[in-house]
Amino acid sequence: MAVPKRKVSKQRSNKRYANWKAEAPNLGECPQCHEPKLAHRVCKACGYYDGQKVVDVKQDKDK
Ligand SMILES: [Zn+2]
Repeated sequence: MAVPKRKVSKQRSNKRYANWKAEAPNLGECPQCHEPKLAHRVCKACGYYDGQKVVDVKQDKDK
């Protein structure tokens, strides 16, 4: 089995992880209620997906 010849230095691994950044989620607008929603996901606010009601959404009672 291939094994690394030397230890990877702190500088080298730090440089590698320096190129890792968190990405913002792909937000789109819901065509039903115009709330921001995640792409390819049922809308959290109205429960619609692809023009149909897919899930029941609880109404905000305690807000
Ligand atoms: Zn919606």
